[in-house]
Amino acid sequence: MGDYISMLKQSGLKTTFQRLYILQVLDECGHLDIDEIYSNVLFVHPSISLATIYKNILMLVDKEVIKEVPIEGKKSKYEIVKQDHFHLICTECGDVEDCDYEELSDIVSLSSKRHKFLQEKVELSVYGYCKKCIDKINEKS
Ligand SMILES: [Zn+2]
Ligand SMILES: [Zn+2]
Repeated sequence: MGDYISMLKQSGLKTTFQRLYILQVLDECGHLDIDEIYSNVLFVHPSISLATIYKNILMLVDKEVIKEVPIEGKKSKYEIVKQDHFHLICTECGDVEDCDYEELSDIVSLSSKRHKFLQEKVELSVYGYCKKCIDKINEKS
């Protein structure tokens, strides 16, 4: 838990159990949407409201402790801010997988340079079907 406390301190946010718990479930699960975060927190703190959780999520996004991962046609997911990476997003089940960005980053930087573009951040998502969903589709046919 120590990590989360210093993350909050660095961002200038007060440490509350809601915030700590949001960070903990995101750390454990990777990418979750608001409903998934809420049901996880409810499990431990049944009295908490969705509005409170949402307010805290927005604050954490604002302070760049967590990041919104927009998903076409589905609710956004959230993740703890970490090293640059890109996403493989399943349009069937909404699963989000992290991918190493290292090899790509040179290519992206090069393209930016070519266009004399000052690159600040890179947001990259690949949409398709995850392995689980492909298997399910194959089973049916
Ligand atoms: Zn899937
Ligand atoms: Zn991610």
